[in-house]
Amino acid sequence: MLVFKFGGASVKSAAAVKNIVEILQRYPEEEIVVVVSAMGKTTNALERIIENFVNRNREGLTAEYEQLKDYHLEIVNGLFEEHDHQVFEQVDQLFSTLYGRLAKEPTLNFDYDYDQLICFGEMLSTTIISHYLNKAAIPTRWMDIRRAIKTDNSWREARVDWELSSRLVNEQFRFNGEQILITQGFLGSTINDQTTSLGREGSDYTAAILAYMLKAGSVTIWKDVPGVLNADPKYFDDTILLEKLSYLDAIELAYFGTGVIHPKTIKPLQNKNINLYVKSFLNPDAPGTLVGNLNYDKLTPSFIFKMDQVLISISPLDFSFINEDNLQEIFGILNKHGLKINLMQNSAISFKMIVNNHKRKLRLVEDDLEKKFKVTYQTGLELVTIRYFDQSTIDRVMINKELILEQRGVQNIELLIRDRG
Ligand code: ASP
Ligand code: MG
Repeated sequence: MLVFKFGGASVKSAAAVKNIVEILQRYPEEEIVVVVSAMGKTTNALERIIENFVNRNREGLTAEYEQLKDYHLEIVNGLFEEHDHQVFEQVDQLFSTLYGRLAKEPTLNFDYDYDQLICFGEMLSTTIISHYLNKAAIPTRWMDIRRAIKTDNSWREARVDWELSSRLVNEQFRFNGEQILITQGFLGSTINDQTTSLGREGSDYTAAILAYMLKAGSVTIWKDVPGVLNADPKYFDDTILLEKLSYLDAIELAYFGTGVIHPKTIKPLQNKNINLYVKSFLNPDAPGTLVGNLNYDKLTPSFIFKMDQVLISISPLDFSFINEDNLQEIFGILNKHGLKINLMQNSAISFKMIVNNHKRKLRLVEDDLEKKFKVTYQTGLELVTIRYFDQSTIDRVMINKELILEQRGVQNIELLIRDRG
């Protein structure tokens, strides 16, 4: 049994969905659990709908909702000629249910509301694709992942109950003559069946969870890139495909933000020694990247860029030193507002941290910090991580840049830089 994950880009149009059929037809002998994200940029669109819902902006909400509905109907129309096909009714039903929820009052819990609404993207995509696979003579069963993956109620970042979920997954994900079991990425539910989500881009993680619990032969993430590259082609034009990655290298690259694999994906696979392939759905013959229990001598330097970074420097107002008490307080404030640290450094009298420029969260954090600390900011920075660095890779990144701060490890170096003005 294999696990395949198809992300938003691989299901963004009728043509893309047809391409999935071609990919699956290459594996006629395999039973496959297929994990799918929302189509195209649907999750972003739903996030805008949710903002409008919470801010009671009916006009904005309706416009976005209609656009999202048109987008899905265009795909359905591109896939099914027979207008009495039950997919039309089901998609219509999902949109009415969504609209019904949007007609209600928001609760006081934004994150809870978010999860109850964001799930429609994956519900729609899996419903449409499941019908299309059956139409294309690939016997497929649609599965509601929320009946199997159980989580706590940390809305938008829910934690999986591994024991209970494993039992439910193994009870439910059984092939009875189907070739494909298709299900939603990114979602779960609480013990009371309220929908939760696992964090943005969480569908990779769902694929890994299912592979771990079902002891899959391998996982393949189908992407619009050839595999894991050593840098984002946005910043470098001569990128190198990393054909093999050890679990550790993959975890490090994902953790520092390569973006190709969700960071939580690797650990469950490593634990059961399950291979992960990252392959191009545009070029399925190409080998892509294999992540596994691998050794190699050639260590290709990898570059990870984070733009629009903010450096926050914090020192105690009472001239005390940075110590465990202060740090506990600082981390508590960050935790409370969900602001994540990309890099930190401290000296005797100041603590520095680099974070994404998340304006709303930064304001909340600042208000709390300023009660006890002197806080200063520097914006407009870039954070570059180089894994397997040497002087020439550092020089390459530093062209026309000024160094603000660096942190050097044995394998990784992190450079906080800005344009030389
Ligand atoms: N649809 C969700 C998102 O865009 C989950 C995913 O794509 O992995 O974040
Ligand atoms: Mg996605």
